[in-house]
Amino acid sequence: MNNILVFCETQNGHLKRSSQELLQKGAKSGHKVFALLLGSSSTAAPECAHHGAKVVLTAKSPALDQYNSELYLAALDAACETSNPSVILAATSSSAKDLFPRFAAKKNLGLVSDGIALTLQGDEVLVTKPLYAGKCFAQASFENSQIKIVLMRPNQLPVDHANSSLTAEVTDLQVPQLDLSTIVKEVVKGASEKLDLTEANIIVAGGRGFKEAANFKLLNELASVLGATVGATRAVVDEGWVSHSMQVGQTGKTVAPTLYIAVGISGAIQHLAGMSGSKVIVAINNDPSAPIFQKATYGIVGDLFSVLPALTEEFRKILKA
Ligand SMILES: Cc1cc2nc3c(=O)[nH]c(=O)nc-3n(C[C@H](O)[C@H](O)[C@H](O)COP(=O)(O)OP(=O)(O)OC[C@H]3O[C@@H](n4cnc5c(N)ncnc54)[C@H](O)[C@@H]3O)c2cc1C
Repeated sequence: MNNILVFCETQNGHLKRSSQELLQKGAKSGHKVFALLLGSSSTAAPECAHHGAKVVLTAKSPALDQYNSELYLAALDAACETSNPSVILAATSSSAKDLFPRFAAKKNLGLVSDGIALTLQGDEVLVTKPLYAGKCFAQASFENSQIKIVLMRPNQLPVDHANSSLTAEVTDLQVPQLDLSTIVKEVVKGASEKLDLTEANIIVAGGRGFKEAANFKLLNELASVLGATVGATRAVVDEGWVSHSMQVGQTGKTVAPTLYIAVGISGAIQHLAGMSGSKVIVAINNDPSAPIFQKATYGIVGDLFSVLPALTEEFRKILKA
């Protein structure tokens, strides 16, 4: 049995779904799972146990509440000293994308990022990752890497119900005080109160078919009735209608909600690269030959300006009843 270290992240004090996926994947492989929680996210230690961690490593310093590459590197070092992992798993988040290449370079370790499927069998670690915006897939394995680092795209692995009877040993790490060359002075949060796109269960996304920014209010109304998060295409982001944090696709976020409603979106390959893992896709477009219909589970051919308000009204009635 080997040790697996999972870099866990939280949102509003709770373990992100992407971290739950990795903890459960590690636990199912039969290896011993260590969870790493930094800063105030340490309060999620019981949740880590419920998803399969046997040991939770915490470092409670308030300095770790915000991502800082130097401090996080030191904490990761301390976590590796304590857990002696053969594999490190993390979600492909913005912090992880900054932290792990630094760690891999510093320690001369192998790293595979952007995984969409993962096999952990004995000492073998196999990662599938998309290339060319999902046109083909590569399978990566490791050679001569003392620790194998894998960054997985969120929402690619199943999550079973948490088992609240499971417990874990909690160990507080000693992270050395550092003379930092960079500090985070302020974090300005986006306006959205909604769940991050990568964590959302329902997404309603809009494209250039909306004609102008003000018309996005139709999409926001549907989102608020469904409790959904709003996404967008790059065309719309480039127009300046919405922020880049809402972009889905090759150069935006990769999402895999239960329901993805694509409105006024043509279905370019770069957009599909970010959302084709959604379980049910509904497309609304007035062009019956739009490529999005080839990916859609259900398609509505029609003018979004009449279809969308009608749909919102119907959902409102159903969900009120
Ligand atoms: C390197 C690279 C990276 C990229 N990365 C991304 C990415 O991450 N994400 C992304 O989304 N794109 C990305 N793109 C851009 C991508 O190629 C497309 O240009 C973009 O996705 C198109 O956005 P759209 O569907 O909103 O617009 P369009 O392609 O213009 O489609 C608008 C759709 O709305 C429909 N429509 C118009 N009026 C109505 C109406 N009244 N009712 C209903 N339907 C209507 C039209 O029939 C059409 O299908 C990238 C491109 C490149 C080159």
